[in-house]
Amino acid sequence: MTTSRSSSCGTLIIGGGVVGLSLAWELGQRGEKVCVVDRGQLGQEASWAGAGMIPAAPAESHWKVATPLEQLEGLSQRLHPAWHGQLRESTGVDTEYRQCGALYLATNPSEAEVVQRVADRRQYLGIACEALDGGQIAAQEPVLASQANRFVKGYSVPSEAQFRSPRLLQALTSACQMVGVTLRPGTQVERFASSEDSLTAAVTSQGIIHADRFCLTAGCWSGQLAQSVGIDLPVRPIRGQIILVQGPPGMVRRNLYVGMRYFTPRLDGRLLVGSTLEDAGFHKVNTVTAVADLTTWAASIAPATAGLPIEHRWAGLRPGTADNRPYLGRLPRLQNAWIATGHFRAGLQLAPATAVVMRSLICGEESPIDVSSFGVERELGQIDQKLSSATVGPASRSATGH
Ligand SMILES: Cc1cc2nc3c(=O)[nH]c(=O)nc-3n(C[C@H](O)[C@H](O)[C@H](O)COP(=O)(O)OP(=O)(O)OC[C@H]3O[C@@H](n4cnc5c(N)ncnc54)[C@H](O)[C@@H]3O)c2cc1C
Repeated sequence: MTTSRSSSCGTLIIGGGVVGLSLAWELGQRGEKVCVVDRGQLGQEASWAGAGMIPAAPAESHWKVATPLEQLEGLSQRLHPAWHGQLRESTGVDTEYRQCGALYLATNPSEAEVVQRVADRRQYLGIACEALDGGQIAAQEPVLASQANRFVKGYSVPSEAQFRSPRLLQALTSACQMVGVTLRPGTQVERFASSEDSLTAAVTSQGIIHADRFCLTAGCWSGQLAQSVGIDLPVRPIRGQIILVQGPPGMVRRNLYVGMRYFTPRLDGRLLVGSTLEDAGFHKVNTVTAVADLTTWAASIAPATAGLPIEHRWAGLRPGTADNRPYLGRLPRLQNAWIATGHFRAGLQLAPATAVVMRSLICGEESPIDVSSFGVERELGQIDQKLSSATVGPASRSATGH
């Protein structure tokens, strides 16, 4: 319900996921007057659901041969360590950011072809990447020893990192408050008021908010908001289901990828097993099939996980785009409105670089990397993903943060 209450701010950020909160913190640290609205609780959607893996990316010395997306990844990789350190220092929340390394493994020729292609590209970009045989895989990850002969190809990537996403969101929320950002959970933007080539206000479920500048960071819901200002933005939800089991600490040491699936180990022995990629609309549930598939797959790759109880399971809606690249830039025809969304499988990885780039664009400064190819006008194709149906009900969530 819209009321007659009215307020104003400098920059209004619509959507308090990792992208919106990171940008708000970045702007807030520069003394900007910022307000973040979220229709639900802050940081409880895709960003909460994500595993928090940060794949290796090129150092600046190789950016001249990297794509714009690889440059964005590289900038994020450079920013992540200091970013988590600063958050820990200022808020006391330890995100458990750490360089854990990763193994990329293949059990059949088609997976092997992908693993090799990715490894070749990484080596071209100067990213350390070492080929492993079965014995070396078993030595690096003893949990895989009984299955080591199944791996037809394997690469180790020591510089891969990870963090606990719920803790990052908790830290970002506190950090935003500490720099004076106004946070308004439970405030849904319904539409915008505009005048000529600018937005003037957001009409929300809690009243009208006037602002000088606006940024849409509403994840997979951004398309609906963009439509309200006449922009057809084909961002769509791609569901990811994931399970969390509790094992002994150290059972799995690195992020392990086999085909489209992965293990992400926490220091306390918790182990994420992910994930699905499903075009199921805005239907954020776990399905019987997916939970069973993830459990069976985990036991087939790492038999020691068989029988470990599922502590939690959940689903999240990634903001997918036709070319799997985010939209970053100014909204067409509007002088004071920007968008940062569509990060698909990499929003947690790309959040620091996205925040720095968007702050530069919004403040009229030079961006550290050229993001003109991420504009919303670029040519668009189709996303083709599979749908699955039977459900096991709403997700169960860990109170402490996975
Ligand atoms: C299972 C899974 C695993 C993943 N693993 C990784 C990983 O390891 N590494 C990685 O980098 N990425 C990972 N991702 C992807 C990553 O989580 C997303 O790319 C990222 O969280 C997107 O962040 P966001 O802030 O754009 O969206 P969200 O986190 O979805 O935030 C959008 C916010 O906008 C709010 N909102 C929507 N509409 C409105 C409105 N009208 N008014 C006000 N507020 C609104 C929503 O309530 C929400 O809080 C994973 C995702 C899933 C699902």
